[in-house]
Amino acid sequence: MSNDDDAIGAMRHTQAFDTHTVRNQSPEFAPCDLWATDPALREAVVREGGDAFAGHLGDYGRLAGDALYRLSWDAHRDRPRLRSHDRFGHRIDTVEFHPAYHEIMGAAIAQGVAGLSWASQHWALPPVGAHVARAALSFLHHQVEPGSSCPLTMTHAAVPALRREPSLRDWADKAAAAQYDHRDVPMAEKTGVTLGMGMTEKQGGSDVRSNETTVLPLPGGDDYALTGHKWFFSAPMSDGFLVLAQAPGGLSCFLMPRRLPDGAKNAFRIMRLKDKLGDWSNASSEVEFAGARAQRIGEEGRGIAVILDMVMLTRLDCMLGSAAEMRMALIQALHHCRHRVAFGKRLIDQPLMRNVLADLAIESEAATAFALRLAGAVDRAPQDAREAGFARIATAIGKFWICKRAPAFVNEAQECLGGAGYVEESMLPRLYRQAPLNSIWEGSGNIQCLDVLRALQREPVAADALRAELLQATGRHPVYDAWAMAVATDAAAMLTIDPDAAQAGARMLVERLALALQAATLLRADSLLAEAFCRSRLGGGRGMVFGTLNADAGLDTALDRAWSA
Ligand SMILES: Cc1cc2nc3c(=O)[nH]c(=O)nc-3n(C[C@H](O)[C@H](O)[C@H](O)COP(=O)(O)OP(=O)(O)OC[C@H]3O[C@@H](n4cnc5c(N)ncnc54)[C@H](O)[C@@H]3O)c2cc1C
Repeated sequence: MSNDDDAIGAMRHTQAFDTHTVRNQSPEFAPCDLWATDPALREAVVREGGDAFAGHLGDYGRLAGDALYRLSWDAHRDRPRLRSHDRFGHRIDTVEFHPAYHEIMGAAIAQGVAGLSWASQHWALPPVGAHVARAALSFLHHQVEPGSSCPLTMTHAAVPALRREPSLRDWADKAAAAQYDHRDVPMAEKTGVTLGMGMTEKQGGSDVRSNETTVLPLPGGDDYALTGHKWFFSAPMSDGFLVLAQAPGGLSCFLMPRRLPDGAKNAFRIMRLKDKLGDWSNASSEVEFAGARAQRIGEEGRGIAVILDMVMLTRLDCMLGSAAEMRMALIQALHHCRHRVAFGKRLIDQPLMRNVLADLAIESEAATAFALRLAGAVDRAPQDAREAGFARIATAIGKFWICKRAPAFVNEAQECLGGAGYVEESMLPRLYRQAPLNSIWEGSGNIQCLDVLRALQREPVAADALRAELLQATGRHPVYDAWAMAVATDAAAMLTIDPDAAQAGARMLVERLALALQAATLLRADSLLAEAFCRSRLGGGRGMVFGTLNADAGLDTALDRAWSA
């Protein structure tokens, strides 16, 4: 064949497939500076006392919106695998991850997503405001790779419980370290450790008092031997686990290491990994213990109180995580709608689409502001009893509400992308699968509502702090004032009404409290969206679905502010 024949063949080939020009598609989303483009987050961090960390957060916002975003696809798609045995038949109980997962974990731990609150000196940063900054790091991280947020948040949250025992100082320090060391070696040989937790058993999860795993003290030391199982046990490749078990003195909390000090494998087995709806990059397992060695934390019989130190913080991260999922879904929708043209106009210029996007933007900002308000309260709690009381009750309120809002929110954002939002190459299916999880684990919705009732009925400091928070925002908006007064009265009535009636009405009360606290946070912040939030969420100026704002509800303001990319 001559060169001419080749050229004619190539031309025919090209012509045969030259059916159309690709146009009217949005460009690639990344890189996106997730910090610089998020005014709601930046303002909330400053408001809550984290302004000294802006440079550090800016660095992480760029990293997350570029390198980590790109790595996250492989970490998610190539799910972790259990290797129960090596090729010679020895039991090894390890979990294999895609290298992208380890890169993401390494970057997160190096920047303090797990440790900044406890050891800000590692990053040459001040201690004041460190919880707020760590919360913002977690928010940025979760937008991009929510699966790895699970071991990161458990490692962060385990530190106060570990610090209760002076003999666990090394564990606490290594959990807060800036090193990710995923070698399967004893703690003493590691530069950094990760932690998991085991509460849920087959016969009961919310009702942890039904735990049947038992421990027996071992002779001649402080150690115990654990026997039993856990039905959900995430991040089973962690170096240590806070585990609840029945001791002779009642339900107690233990630290169970993966490797014993002499290097031997501790006596627990990973039975299988859970085949989950979403959260794919994270390994969740079922495990059994056959005399696994563990060290007690706190007194026998006080296990729930000890593990609550951890759970309060993981619940805050559920709230931050759901707010982060909303944020990422929102900016993916905004990105698409800024580029996609239909019926002669960009989607973002279509009045009905503007209503949907503006409504989502208001919801997202309210979730972010409320979650960061809680992080600020956690920062101030050691010195301020009212902030401690507020953190106690508002964590349950926010965990219920923000986590409940995420699935519907993500679905609405997904729809903004049309068919592309249902396809795995967009990020929306991943977010959609992830979104229900935060409302299920760490105490499901009803459990949070019952916890709010418990705090109102039995913890006057928390109830007073809630009332004070509501009162502080009055005088700024008449709709808010009426709402706050009514819900404060109903909350106070929980002390007097029949317990069954109180429980049956708890969701309604907590929903109203959550809306009041979101409004209060926005009003006190002088947020440009406070007016629209109050009118739409408290004043009846909105329907049941997103995109039903009144036309004069400040749509332009919400959209101008939403994403400064
Ligand atoms: C992916 C994943 C990973 C997990 N990882 C871990 C982990 O690492 N460690 C761990 O310990 N657990 C883990 N969990 C378990 C999780 O925390 C529990 O599933 C959750 O707390 C609910 O417990 P349960 O499944 O036993 O449901 P149940 O306790 O049976 O509750 C079922 C439903 O009943 C409701 N309910 C319960 N009691 C009441 C009541 N009195 N009144 C009204 N409603 C009520 C609950 O709100 C819930 O909606 C994980 C779960 C998932 C899905």
